[in-house]
Amino acid sequence: MQHAAAAADPNAEIREEVRKLCGRFPGEYWRKLDAERRYPSDFVAALTEAGYLSVLIPEEYGGSGLSLSSAAAILETIQEEGCNGAACHAQMYIMGAILRHGSPAQKQQYLPAIASGALRLQAFGVTEPTSGTDTTALRTFARREGDEFVVNGQKIWTSRAEHSDLMLLLARTTPRDQVTKKTEGLSVFIVDMRTALGNGLTIRPIRTMMNHNSCEVFFDNMRVPAENLIGKLDGGFRVILDGMNAERLLIAAECVGDAKWFTRKSVGYANDRHIFGRAIGQNQGIQFPIARAYAQMRAAELMVREGCRKFESGENCGPEANMAKMLAAEASWAAAEAAVQTHGGFGFAEEYDIERKFRETRLYQVAPISTNLILSYLAEHVLGLPRSY
Ligand SMILES: Cc1cc2nc3c(=O)[nH]c(=O)nc-3n(C[C@H](O)[C@H](O)[C@H](O)COP(=O)(O)OP(=O)(O)OC[C@H]3O[C@@H](n4cnc5c(N)ncnc54)[C@H](O)[C@@H]3O)c2cc1C
Repeated sequence: MQHAAAAADPNAEIREEVRKLCGRFPGEYWRKLDAERRYPSDFVAALTEAGYLSVLIPEEYGGSGLSLSSAAAILETIQEEGCNGAACHAQMYIMGAILRHGSPAQKQQYLPAIASGALRLQAFGVTEPTSGTDTTALRTFARREGDEFVVNGQKIWTSRAEHSDLMLLLARTTPRDQVTKKTEGLSVFIVDMRTALGNGLTIRPIRTMMNHNSCEVFFDNMRVPAENLIGKLDGGFRVILDGMNAERLLIAAECVGDAKWFTRKSVGYANDRHIFGRAIGQNQGIQFPIARAYAQMRAAELMVREGCRKFESGENCGPEANMAKMLAAEASWAAAEAAVQTHGGFGFAEEYDIERKFRETRLYQVAPISTNLILSYLAEHVLGLPRSY
């Protein structure tokens, strides 16, 4: 199946290598983990060892200093091969907060260790149960006490918290009623979860419809050294915002990969399965949903590329990053839906992996940002319509 002009793809070699690595982690591996809700430690170790999770870290800090397009190609290929990058994709981009806003000492302290895999920074504590999408309404508070901050509050949906050494935490440092703009008064901290666990930090896993290792996290007088503040005090919202475009483009690339996987499975099955004496793929009722999802995927793929191009040339890629995320999440869902329908009853059988990937790819219309909020962003910031909330 023709997806893109492979010869013109500067990441063709990376894709080929990632494909080989993924070949060591077949559907059976993921099915077993899914049933037991376990973390894919071997898969993540293999990616770490091959250096794929540190591609966005500059060479001077021990990474390979590759482009966002290369990172997107890695994640897309992981999904296209039926694996699940959600177990570790955040290791690629959360470190961007330190890279862009950390002090020289913080960069030296963390980035080389993250690049080598000695330290995992893949827990991102933003969402709270009562604030949800309304980030600035979060309640977790960090109060300064001498050389430390004392943190109280709760986060929810902190993915991979049990499999991360560090957490990037967004907390209020000035109450909302004492700031002129609600985006002020928030600060970002690096929390060393290894020492905090049991010392004010409690992690409680949430069982979800797919194997995602997401958790609730509770802070009860958890102490964080003041030197772990990233960027300016009360200026944390900017730190988080600055990382969002890269995150959205990378998640969009994963959805493109998912869509490619589903489409490959659908085409294969539709050609092989004979009912009424002919391949089911001969029926337009089977062909059209697959073809439509394919067209949606290709459009999303182009938007991911355009977003990456703008990001890499330092232009504002906010609209493209948001559109790419929305279009790609919708394309992967359309491809997933077509795959279930094409496979008939077998779409529900675990051994075909369709139902597992179907559950996994549904997430991306909700997290890390829901489709409604992307539409609101486009309406307000791109089209000039009134703010709706
Ligand atoms: C498996 C999983 C992993 C996650 N991982 C992380 C993580 O690692 N770190 C982290 O910080 N967060 C994480 N999240 C949280 C995720 O980012 C949020 O779930 C998401 O942003 C939506 O917030 P919410 O669930 O509170 O929904 P709400 O904000 O309660 O919204 C519910 C619904 O209402 C809609 N809505 C709300 N306001 C408006 C409006 N003004 N206009 C139109 N529609 C509106 C939303 O679009 C949504 O459909 C994760 C979530 C899940 C499910």
